[in-house]
Parts: sequence; structure tokens; C-alpha cells
Amino acid sequence: MNALLILPLAQAASGETTSGSLLSAQGADLLYLIASIFFILGIKGLTHPRTAVRGNAFGAIGMLIAVAATVAGPALSGHAFDFTMIAAGIAIGAVLGALTALKVEMTGMPQLVAVFNGFGGIASALVAGGAFLLAIGTETSLQGDIATAASGLIGALTFTGSIVAFFKLLDLRSLRKIPGAIPGQKVLNGLLLLGALWFGVQLVQDSSQVSTYYAICAIAAVLGITLTTPIGGADMPVVIALLNSYSGLAAAATGFVIDNNVLIVSGSLVGASGVILTAIMCKAMNRSLTNVIFGSLGPSADGPSADDVYGGKVKGASPDEVAMLFDGAQRVVVVPGYGMAVAQAQHTVRDLANLLEARDIEVEFAIHPVAGRMPGHMNVLLAEADIDYDKLKEMDEINPTFETVDVALVIGANDVVNPVARTDPQSPIAGMPVLDVDKARTVVVVKRSLSPGFAGIPNPLFAMDNTYMMFGDGKKALIELIGVLKEE
Ligand code: NDP
Repeated sequence: MNALLILPLAQAASGETTSGSLLSAQGADLLYLIASIFFILGIKGLTHPRTAVRGNAFGAIGMLIAVAATVAGPALSGHAFDFTMIAAGIAIGAVLGALTALKVEMTGMPQLVAVFNGFGGIASALVAGGAFLLAIGTETSLQGDIATAASGLIGALTFTGSIVAFFKLLDLRSLRKIPGAIPGQKVLNGLLLLGALWFGVQLVQDSSQVSTYYAICAIAAVLGITLTTPIGGADMPVVIALLNSYSGLAAAATGFVIDNNVLIVSGSLVGASGVILTAIMCKAMNRSLTNVIFGSLGPSADGPSADDVYGGKVKGASPDEVAMLFDGAQRVVVVPGYGMAVAQAQHTVRDLANLLEARDIEVEFAIHPVAGRMPGHMNVLLAEADIDYDKLKEMDEINPTFETVDVALVIGANDVVNPVARTDPQSPIAGMPVLDVDKARTVVVVKRSLSPGFAGIPNPLFAMDNTYMMFGDGKKALIELIGVLKEE
């Protein structure tokens, strides 16, 4: 997507006069149509782990066709492509893309997605800006002017918002909390939005002033920061989905600016699927979309301290002791979280599940919609470990059954099993539906310490009478547990 956005920018930068192209406009449109079909097949494929790899390949083929058709097709009217710039852009983009794909760890994917959303946004704003500069002094269309203003606004907002989200997703607690909400946040956000829209109207009325475009981008860039900064805890997944959607909308708007049909189609696909994902996330997190969009202040995070919650109440258990808990167990539910991803423990989890099943114990996996750091994070990891998809149970399905669970085995999950979401209306995760593992007969939590999860708050589950903490790295602790179970 980003490569596609950069190409017309190179075209805009060349400023040369028209020369012949390999493909007519109709030929390019036909290829764009084929590319769009591949994009739709790609999205369809990505809806299930079994077809996801094929879906990804379809998306890549669609993108190749789209890029080829853009380069071979006619340039913006009155201009020609500068193929040296295009080749340089493709070479740099391909090297960076390949290095990123090879180097980034699975646990770094959410940050990468956040940055890609941001790059999509800034690329759209730059391309629309480039086209706007080229068009100064010529007759422009109403549609083009509106699209230019929309590209600048959404693109700049997406860029800065995504950069803030990137820092919040880094596993650095100090950065994640920068710098929190300020009084009057909603009013400030509303004023910034109105300001950007006002300059947008100015641009549509008089498209000869470059400064109005810069003003839109500058205000929107500040808005991206003020919208995303106060959001944390349970709302972050919604914001990531929303920024993803914005990056698509910005691309679609830019497609109208430079009259590029495949950009309009692919941008709309990303925008629409992002909106659907945002709605799903809002429902899963019990959040209102308006509150998230306008950066509403969340509940105060000044809850009880870790000492108050844990003091003298936490029980540690060795692998030998935990192994004994499985004696006589009939039903075990594994609850994976972000820590399982960090420890890369998914294959070890599968081995443990197989071992328990060999003892006639029923094993299921409880999947919280925002466990981990990206939508579907746990599903992807468990599918990678070849765990049967039918054993993965969604929250609504498994929650009513926790009272009949003998052992709930929580592996690196924290916020998604924190009962304060139900009990403390002032908590940053208040109202977020959580997995009711505290209702199981026995709970075993595997994590390295009593450190908090993403929301930064203590978890009373760890201090409950029926909970045992097996401290250690998720993978190493489970390997030890498997060793003990095999010896029995
Ligand atoms: P959490 O972030 O709440 O907790 C993860 C826990 O894993 C930590 O407490 C940590 O404890 C433990 N851990 C880290 N490394 C290891 C390791 N090597 N071995 C064992 N344990 C480890 O994770 P959850 O999945 O419960 O919740 C997800 C949170 O992330 C929610 O607050 C959600 O809102 C947020 N979020 C989710 C996104 C999504 O789309 N899914 C996107 C953005 C945010 P310790 O250090 O003691 O080991």
C-alpha cells in the first residue's frame, strides 16, 4: 500500500511534460479492477487461520498488479513519470520491507502495524499535498479540493496518532503512560477538529493558497496527538483499529485527488474493514465509539497499591505442586495472554495440553478478544502451534462455564483476567468484559513476577484463596511442569 502511495508522489515531484505510456488509461483501469479482486479475495482469506497464508499471497499479488499498472499507465495529466525516482523508491521500500519482515519479532508486530498505519497516513497527506502544489494556478475541481483537504486532515492525524500509539505499545512503562489526559481534553479536541475543518472549507473556497493545506495538516497533526495520548488500558485496541481505518480513508481520499481508481478501492477496503474491526473491538471492550474517538477521559487509575492488594496473600507454587493440582482434574481451561507471546510458549502449551488430554482431561482455550497486543494475537499463535481451532472458546461461550472448571491455567495473561474490571468502576479497565477465571475451582497463574499488565494496575486474582502463582518465564515454567507430569 505504501509503495503505491509513494509512486504518484515521485510522479508529482518530476514536473516533466507528458510522454507516451505503455498502458492506456482503460488498460490501467482493467488491471486495477483485477488487483481489486485480488484484494477482496485476500481479505476473505484472512478471515480464517487456515486460509490466511493464501489470503496474504492474494493481497501481495494484487499489490504487484496495482503497482505495475500505475507505473505502466498514464501519469497525472500534463506530467510524466520520473522512472529513476520510482526505481529508487521501489528499491528503498523493498529493502526496508524485507529487512523489517525478517527482523521484527512476533511480539513487535503490533508496534509495526501502528507504524505502518502512520506511514500510510503521512504518505497520503504528502501525495495529496504534492498534487495540490502542482495544481496551483490551474483550474481545480470541487471534488479534488474536498479530497485534498480530507487527505491532509486524516493523513496527518493518522500519522501522529499512530506514532503515539507506537510508543504506547512499546513495552516501556514510562513511555506507555505519556503524559495522560488533561482537563478539558474533549473541548480541546473538538476545537482542533473545528479548526482543521475551517481551514478545509477555506481550501475548497480558494485553492490557490498552499498555506491553508499546511494549516490543515499542522492542526490535524496536533489533534492526532491529543486524541491518542490520553487513551490507555482497555481502549488501546479500539484506537489501533480506528487508526488503521483512518489510514485507509486517507488513501481513498488521495485516490480522488490524483484520480487513481485502485487507490480509491484499496483505501475504501481498508477504511471499511477497519471500521468493522473498530465496532467489534468496541463491543468486546464495552466502550462507546464516540468516547474513544473524542478522547474521553477514562476512569481514574489511582486505585489501591500493589502492596494493599498482594500484601501477605499471594501463594507461590512449584511445578511439583502444580502437577498435583491436575490429579483428579476433569476439565482444564488454558487462558493465554501477552506473556505467552513474549515467552513464545505456544508450542509448549500445546505439548502440555496433549499430555493432559492423554490423561482423559478435557482441555480448552479461553480467548479474550484483546489478549496480547493485536486483534487475533492469541488465535494466530495457537494456530501456529497446530492447536485445533475447535478447542478455542470465545469469552461469551466460556465465561458461564468457569464454575465447572477444575484448573484454570493462566499463561502470561493479566488485564484480561483482572476481576476489578467487574468490581471497581474507577479502574482504567472498568466495564471491560474479562474472563471470569476467578470463578474456577483452582487457578494457576504462570508469570515472572507480580508486575502489572498493559493497564498498569494490580490484579486481585493473584491474591485470591483459590489462586497459585507459578513464577517464571512462561515457556521454562511449562517445560518444568511437563517434566514433572511425565515422571508421574
Ligand atoms: P497484559 O499486558 O495485561 O499482561 C501480560 C503479562 O504477561 C504481564 O503481567 C507480564 O508479567 C507477563 N509476562 C511478560 N513476559 C512474560 C514471560 N516471558 N513469561 C510469562 N509471563 C510474562 O496481557 P493480557 O493479554 O492479559 O492483556 C492485554 C492488554 O493489552 C489489555 O490491557 C489490552 O487492552 C491491551 N492491548 C491489547 C491490544 C490488542 O489488540 N490485543 C492492543 C493494545 C493494547 P511479568 O512481567 O510478571 O511476567
